[in-house]
Amino acid sequence: MASTDPTRLGGQAALVTGASSGIGRASAIAFAAAGAAVAVNYRGSPDEADAVVAEIEKAGGRAVAVQGDVSKEDEVAAMFDEAEKALGPLDIVMSNAGIQKDARIGEMSLDHWNAVIAVNLTGGFLVGREAIKRFRAKGRRPDVSRALGKLVFDSSVHQIIPWAFHVNYAAAKGGIHMLMQSLAQEVAEEGIRVNAVAPGAIATAINAEERKDNEAEMLKLIPYGRIGDPQDIGRVVSWLVSDAADYIVGQTIFADGGMTLYPGFRGNG
Ligand code: NAD
Repeated sequence: MASTDPTRLGGQAALVTGASSGIGRASAIAFAAAGAAVAVNYRGSPDEADAVVAEIEKAGGRAVAVQGDVSKEDEVAAMFDEAEKALGPLDIVMSNAGIQKDARIGEMSLDHWNAVIAVNLTGGFLVGREAIKRFRAKGRRPDVSRALGKLVFDSSVHQIIPWAFHVNYAAAKGGIHMLMQSLAQEVAEEGIRVNAVAPGAIATAINAEERKDNEAEMLKLIPYGRIGDPQDIGRVVSWLVSDAADYIVGQTIFADGGMTLYPGFRGNG
């Protein structure tokens, strides 16, 4: 039943890709805390995803771990099937899975390029397309949400900030920006809200080495003076997919401690 609190996700089912760690994990936990049943996608070993499921269940929520590589069309379809079999029709999908394979342009192999585009951009296309098909098949459920479905991409500040030595990653996130907006324009009339979150520097496995070697330099890029926690993003996304954000369509919410304020220009521009 719909709650009178529009930030709640009670009665809804959500799928989060790449949810066994980092931002995906925090988002799955935030969705569950808001009342959604959550499918926790993982690619390889189920151990970490099972731990996320156990954590959600311990807190009184409902979750299931679902395997699938987001860059593979057949595995994406199977992952949605598994999630819907366990939880019922999906109301919320977060396309979060992502990788980095960094190199200077002279050393960036085609394999490095293709791997990042396959997961970070093609994965977004495959998951987004499947989400929209499933929302359409489900039909409206006005008792739980005003929208037919909510799709959110995990983008990055690098959808707008150029990033030397990471051209594959920045190109993929730039692509996600236009994928998100074009898709939002295409399906908004059906009641499907497509949006994105763009994190700045968040403490996860993806940047563990950079943080170890370079944290002081990273902090110079963040006016707010701290690296973000995965929960900083999970809470924003939980709000973004809730009816509290029902009129937000085709937008990117930057959650970056001010990184996109380009602090290097302070006193220098
Ligand atoms: P992370 O490494 O903890 O999470 C990435 C997850 O994606 C992992 O669980 C991994 O197993 C999964 N994954 C990778 N390839 C996959 C595939 N083919 N199929 C399914 N799952 C796959 O790092 P994170 O920082 O939590 O990254 C999550 C998302 O956040 C990524 O899209 C990343 O680009 C984005 N992001 C992160 C930051 C940051 O500072 N951490 C900033 C901006 C954007």
